[in-house]
Amino acid sequence: MQVTFLSERAESDNISTFFFTPERHLRYTAGQFVEFRLPHDDVDDRGDSRWFTLSSSPTSKLLSITTRFADLRGSSFKNALKRLKPGDKLSMSDPLGDFVLPRLVQTPLIFVAGGIGVTPYCSMLQWIAATNDTRDIKMIYGVSSEEEIIFQDVFESAGQHVTTIVSQPSDSWGGERGRITADFILGLEKPNDETMIYLSGPELMIQTLTEDLYKKGVHRRQLLSDYFPGY
Ligand SMILES: Cc1cc2nc3c(=O)[nH]c(=O)nc-3n(C[C@H](O)[C@H](O)[C@H](O)COP(=O)(O)OP(=O)(O)OC[C@H]3O[C@@H](n4cnc5c(N)ncnc54)[C@H](O)[C@@H]3O)c2cc1C
Repeated sequence: MQVTFLSERAESDNISTFFFTPERHLRYTAGQFVEFRLPHDDVDDRGDSRWFTLSSSPTSKLLSITTRFADLRGSSFKNALKRLKPGDKLSMSDPLGDFVLPRLVQTPLIFVAGGIGVTPYCSMLQWIAATNDTRDIKMIYGVSSEEEIIFQDVFESAGQHVTTIVSQPSDSWGGERGRITADFILGLEKPNDETMIYLSGPELMIQTLTEDLYKKGVHRRQLLSDYFPGY
């Protein structure tokens, strides 16, 4: 379908949310992703399409994606995204993916986000707040610096407590320091047999956490992952 670019909102120095109006109402489930095609001049070898998780809630009329811009060697796609003007049209695939909330509301959940991997949880938590859905969710959010922390307003509106861990914090950072590891997750939240652990973030982080959690006795059926290649 075609979507029309509406506006960009800066979430931090190098992370922005882009809002679009769909040509017709789009049904999707919070946590799903889409492929955007953005033809532009001088396309680099990374091409003119990208997958993005919809960071918007399915209850919202607007669609949004949230992405990070590289300090160095950013792609021609991201440069073209930055140059969008209100009214510009893009083509977008149907939403896909099973990184979505379980049907059973009683399932205890642990959400683990690495950096920009926080986008599907943004969609889910907005949907939960909008529909008064109640779930037991513990959330762990790993970033490299405090500037990378986004969506605090969404977490607050959803009443979601988040344990944030920063790998390269400033001296004034008063929270957890380091990287998310399997021990860190299991030390904070002891999963029971029903718990589902959701993992979303850069590919290498998700691979490592999946293997380490598995080695520490978490069943593979209790792990659901969404990894973002290209970072
Ligand atoms: C299911 C799914 C969901 C996703 N959801 C999101 C999302 O919600 N938000 C999001 O931001 N991304 C998401 N992604 C990742 C997204 O599709 C892009 O891969 C990612 O944003 C990187 O974009 P980019 O290639 O334009 O690189 P840029 O963002 O411009 O650069 C990223 C970094 O990669 C380096 N790099 C990578 N490949 C090359 C290369 N070939 N040549 C030179 N340098 C390179 C750059 O130096 C830079 O540091 C998702 C991916 C999938 C598969």
